[in-house]
Amino acid sequence: MPDAATSLSDEVTDLLQHLIRNACVNDGTVESGHEVRNADLLESYLGTSGLDVERYEPAPGRTSLVARIEGRRPEAPSLLLMGHTDVVPANPDGWQRDPFGGDLVDGEVWGRGAVDMLNLTASMAVATRRLADAGFRPDGTLIYLAVADEEALGTWGAEHLAQHELDAVGATYVITESGGIPIKGAADGALRLPVLVGEKGSCWCTLRVKGTPGHASQPWATDNALVTAAEVVRRLDQYRPETMIHETWRRFLGDLGLPDEVVAPLLDPDRLVDALGSLPTGMARQFHACTHTTFAPTVVRGGTKTNVIPDRVDLEVDIRTLPGVELPEVEAMLDEALGDLADRVEIVESHDDPATHSPIDSPLWEALSRTSRAFYAGSHLVPFFNVGATDARFFRRLGATSYGYGLFSEKLTFEDYGRMFHGDDERVDVESLRLSTELWEATARDILAP
Ligand SMILES: [Zn+2]
Repeated sequence: MPDAATSLSDEVTDLLQHLIRNACVNDGTVESGHEVRNADLLESYLGTSGLDVERYEPAPGRTSLVARIEGRRPEAPSLLLMGHTDVVPANPDGWQRDPFGGDLVDGEVWGRGAVDMLNLTASMAVATRRLADAGFRPDGTLIYLAVADEEALGTWGAEHLAQHELDAVGATYVITESGGIPIKGAADGALRLPVLVGEKGSCWCTLRVKGTPGHASQPWATDNALVTAAEVVRRLDQYRPETMIHETWRRFLGDLGLPDEVVAPLLDPDRLVDALGSLPTGMARQFHACTHTTFAPTVVRGGTKTNVIPDRVDLEVDIRTLPGVELPEVEAMLDEALGDLADRVEIVESHDDPATHSPIDSPLWEALSRTSRAFYAGSHLVPFFNVGATDARFFRRLGATSYGYGLFSEKLTFEDYGRMFHGDDERVDVESLRLSTELWEATARDILAP
């Protein structure tokens, strides 16, 4: 007879393996994703526990699933546990194992989505089912949401649900990815657990670079849009936007418990970029992105034929904005970056989705502090700022306090974790799956109980 912890670990591991094998790959097209496969799996998993389960499908195959444990008092604060069921594509050439095999090897589950974020989607489902099985009757409502389309702007998932199905998914508190990687190194020896309290905005732009067409057999002194575009790309790459020390960054660093000589340069806008040079690359990248609006040219489209000088090249640039930076500020930064080439470039398309933020000191923060300490004695939560985007933003805009969190074992480092997101050889250890499952159960009991 397995003990309780073993059977919980087996249950969440098995569910994660099946979620990975369903390969709900979202390539950004409406025909992709096929999250219906994971919705079916989760419905059959949750359906046996007497939970009230509903499905939403705004486009064929783009299914999200909601399970609720209704609270006894409608006015009591409610909690939404939200995990996405889609994953980004994986190229098997770079992997040591089948990215959609869901192999369990030496206590680790391998596969696309193992940390982003089928691990949490699975652990939230197992916690919800265990609470239902135990007859949990809280004051406030517990909602589990397995949501489609997180990996491509949330159009067919969280955005749709937040706009049209608020009765089903609206909540006082929301927890979704990611956070919770234990950070060591504090002078007091206590672990720090980062909670994502806000996230950067994205302002994706298509820049059109203009030129003059001509015969490519006589290239001398032509106005070649591709050559100009190459210089535009180089200037964007070289651009050094202003360093911004914002409140979440200040509090994150202040709460880490690191020696002053480490922290001080990272809080000084004049010294921060130089200080990144002494950090591991993954951490330096994160810290840079936390304190700067960033510009990454990612897609180029141009030219028509080998013997024609191109008159038009389109560049897609992934611009990630800090709080307070919106399209007009981005345009000014582009002008600054491009200098005398600015008038050769036109923004032909932009999608501005500004940064969002939740309060740090909240009842949800207090609850997570308490429940996390049951697993990591003496640990402290620290607020962190997500440099990517999650579905939390749709709920923050509705006024919900929304955090990215989870709990991981000490095996996984901040550095590994960052590398595996959308990277090769994504995997998670079973101990982390168990910890998160137990954390959700304890947190729901803490914040929703009378
Ligand atoms: Zn994710």
